[in-house]
Amino acid sequence: DEKFDTQEIVPVVKVGDTFIMELFHGKTIAFKDIALSILPYLMKNAEKNCDSREEIVILTATSGDTGKAALEGFKDIQGIRIIVFYPENGVSQVQKLQMVTQEGKNTHVVAIDGNFDDAQSAVKGILNDEKIRLELKSRNIKFSSANSINIGRLIPQITYYYSTYEKLVKDKEINRGDQVNFVVPTGNFGNILAGYFAKRMGLPVNKLICAANENNILRDFINTGIYDINRPFIKTMSPSMDILISSNLERLLYYLSGCNNNYIAGLMKDLSTNKKYEVNDNIKKKLNEEFWSSYCNEEETLETIKKVYQSYGYVMDTHTAVAYKTYEDYIYATQDQTKTVILSTASPFKFPGSVYKAIFGASDQSELTLMLSLSERTGLMIPKVVDGLGNKEVLHTRSCTPEKMTNEIMLILSEGQDD
Ligand SMILES: *Cc1c(COP(=O)(O)O)cnc(C)c1O
Repeated sequence: DEKFDTQEIVPVVKVGDTFIMELFHGKTIAFKDIALSILPYLMKNAEKNCDSREEIVILTATSGDTGKAALEGFKDIQGIRIIVFYPENGVSQVQKLQMVTQEGKNTHVVAIDGNFDDAQSAVKGILNDEKIRLELKSRNIKFSSANSINIGRLIPQITYYYSTYEKLVKDKEINRGDQVNFVVPTGNFGNILAGYFAKRMGLPVNKLICAANENNILRDFINTGIYDINRPFIKTMSPSMDILISSNLERLLYYLSGCNNNYIAGLMKDLSTNKKYEVNDNIKKKLNEEFWSSYCNEEETLETIKKVYQSYGYVMDTHTAVAYKTYEDYIYATQDQTKTVILSTASPFKFPGSVYKAIFGASDQSELTLMLSLSERTGLMIPKVVDGLGNKEVLHTRSCTPEKMTNEIMLILSEGQDD
């Protein structure tokens, strides 16, 4: 529909022998637009079916892309307010501008002095706080989330694994029934988990290849069965993957354990007390059957963007480059010939500073200027939705520490009472 800049919504482009699934044609030029343009409608309908008359307040932590996509999705939807928390120093300039210039009466954006894990942990804590829940209930308000901890985010994401497969069949790149691999640049493990669900629903998938950046906790986990967050949080040029506590892994482990609630609760308890857990041999075996993982460092991210541009004229963003390099590692390690699709999760114009640097060398120009230069020198058009971003009025200037997030929410809710 008109929310996307192409009729196809999710085009698939052939680059060399691999296929790139372009998930960035929506309003905020990252893959989260697809699920987040449907989620508000799913929520409204659920409310109607439950005959609920409470106001919904969406709490969202963002590593950069969820926030903007959620703000756009929920903007001016009646009966719903949205509050987004983003790490002040952990997002690209384009990501930040997209959020602080957000319009809509029901939108609130708060910068926090911390990283994504701090924001997400605080949001989860608030969602689980019985005292706050009761207080809000007395005011006819309830919380929900637009993060991928909400199953309404994951379900829409299953569809593009299928639509891509269908396209490959239609274009005679594969025969129906052939297996394919998917490579997914991963942070909170939501997108790749949707791929796993697609497989469980019957899609012929060989391996789900989990690509990590220097925060390579998922690579270590898939290869050893040990999840250990006792490590530094590294800020990279693929910030949407700068995450150490991947929420949706809990869901995967639940299925791999044969839906064993108690076992999973035990692992999560280990995680909160020891910052570490180890899964049993049975789960390790299944993990290795379904997944493969490697990672890409900062230098390799730049090299990959440059190499792919020089070889094929294709411009990819930093997250997609992490996936591309991980796929190269996979081929080197396995010699697997299975046709492979790389999920491209963001437009290069969302991270123009890094992409420009990779292809044309470092520049001390601002990201917005580099957006123009990148367009001029590659011949690619700047997506309409970010063109002129620098001229938009800044509408959100709130900030707080992670400890003060509850306070900030209560402040926002009391201010908004008369709206
Ligand atoms: C959110 C995001 C990711 C990570 O996706 P998860 O579902 O959190 O694993 C990767 N790339 C981009 C550009 C993103 O916005």
